[in-house]
Amino acid sequence: MRRLRRVKIIATLGPASVDKAVVTGLAVAGADVFRINMSHTDHAGLGNYVRMIREIEVELGRAIGVLVDLQGPKLRIGAFAEGSAHLRKGDSFVFDSDPTPGDATRVRLPHPEILAALKVDDTILIDDGKVRLHVVEATPESSRAVVDVAGRLSNRKGVSLPETDIPITSMTSKDRADLEAALAEGVDWVAISFVQRPEDVVEVKKLTQGRALVMAKIEKPQAIARLEEVIEVSDALMVARGDLGVEVPLEKVPGLQKRINRSARRLGKPVVVATQMLESMILSPLPTRAEVSDVATAVFEGADAIMLSAESAAGQYPREAVATMSRIAEEVETDTVYRTIINAQRADAPNPTPADAIAAAARDVAQTLGAKAICAWTHSGATALRIARERPVSPVVALTPISDTARRLALVWGVHAVQTRDASDVEDMVQRACEHARIEGFGGAKGANDRIVIVAGMPFGSPGATNMIRIALVGEKKP
Ligand code: PEP
Repeated sequence: MRRLRRVKIIATLGPASVDKAVVTGLAVAGADVFRINMSHTDHAGLGNYVRMIREIEVELGRAIGVLVDLQGPKLRIGAFAEGSAHLRKGDSFVFDSDPTPGDATRVRLPHPEILAALKVDDTILIDDGKVRLHVVEATPESSRAVVDVAGRLSNRKGVSLPETDIPITSMTSKDRADLEAALAEGVDWVAISFVQRPEDVVEVKKLTQGRALVMAKIEKPQAIARLEEVIEVSDALMVARGDLGVEVPLEKVPGLQKRINRSARRLGKPVVVATQMLESMILSPLPTRAEVSDVATAVFEGADAIMLSAESAAGQYPREAVATMSRIAEEVETDTVYRTIINAQRADAPNPTPADAIAAAARDVAQTLGAKAICAWTHSGATALRIARERPVSPVVALTPISDTARRLALVWGVHAVQTRDASDVEDMVQRACEHARIEGFGGAKGANDRIVIVAGMPFGSPGATNMIRIALVGEKKP
């Protein structure tokens, strides 16, 4: 199960992928992490998915990550007397708290805190931006808006407010219950939707208490305005292009994707590019040229992971979508310009520690020697993350006694995680790193004299003590 690419693939599970045989097929075809979307999954479904993934993990002998995506505060309008209403450009339309069904002049917005937060000139987008209005009069109980982009509003359509600072946290009571259920199932990553500020992430980290790592979905302009602070407190980022493309003009999304990618990488946090990557494969066995190019762009940018949503959750070709994504990534990573682009994006760690210095040195030593792997002994995964941040030419083999660490690292660029008991002394550390490299397919061909670079911390088992580099000959694989 050694992958031939560095970028990781996240496949969302759903009705098209509830069967164990299908999910096994996705893992074999290239899925490194499975995403469970709590907008469409109940607690029983979550439990079934996690049990199935853990069984597949044992059968395939490889750590698989589980990412639970919390729904977040999805705002919706109320219902209409006739099920819908058509709004024309220039019409005046009121959002209020009156539960009476709406018509072409008004509808309920059942979120009093949002009515109180709306200001004159704020934009109101409905149904993923299909209808657009701007506020002309605002009181704490209601807002009158004028229609800029006409269209039909129907019952309970979603509302986006790109310019309004929403005075609620990104965790609803459903999210809290879903988070508890996810932590009880022992999931590896939790993604928070509609993050606006660093405090939203800190709130979830207080609840998780390290039981899962926390990923901030960047989909609101408010989070972009405080991007560096959000990255600082998050364990990873997702460029959630679906909602981001509603909240900011679509043409700004590619630039923001680059900016989020680079900032996250500079700060050593994994970053995921998500949504509509191979959208046409929901219905077709082949992607469009533009989709292939989009996946390739994310790989050239050095993203840690690329994600499939409906393609694997509800499409007709889930396995083909994963296999296609994997093939595109493999091809890009062997392209002659790939390394030049990846190297050009390197930036020094902002406040380098001795561990950052060791990671940079390991990259250089491995490249000079053409080492088959950089083997990192790691408890928390931090050492492997630091080395991955350097985007070395050699793959990173993370050796860890902790299964949670191996699973969490499934999301990280270039890291092949192996669970193994801790090293007892320097000789054991070197010998078993070589043995694992050989077994996992990183060197050991007859007569090749393959080398690996080993990174560890002394004394063993003390977190944050990465301070040692060794070079070792892998030794030949037994026939
Ligand atoms: C997105 O908006 O791009 C996203 C990944 O979130 P969701 O699938 O929950 O809409």
